[in-house]
Amino acid sequence: MLTRHIAHSSPHMLFEFRGLEALPCGCVVADYVATLLSLDVAAVEAKGPHCTVRHHGRGSLLTPDELGSGAAAAWV
Ligand SMILES: [Zn+2]
Repeated sequence: MLTRHIAHSSPHMLFEFRGLEALPCGCVVADYVATLLSLDVAAVEAKGPHCTVRHHGRGSLLTPDELGSGAAAAWV
């Protein structure tokens, strides 16, 4: 049941924070799990000073595919 994943948080908390990851490009992303979908997502928390990826803006959402091979969040 999905409900056990959100039992400890408010009904409005759709994303559960999992941790921070540093990307190869230098950006720092926060990993989240969308609790209702069991879907991993990541949001850019800080843009790396040398990052050249245009869509890595602060607050941008990234899919696991965009995080590189195995370095960050994975489908589990
Ligand atoms: Zn970047």
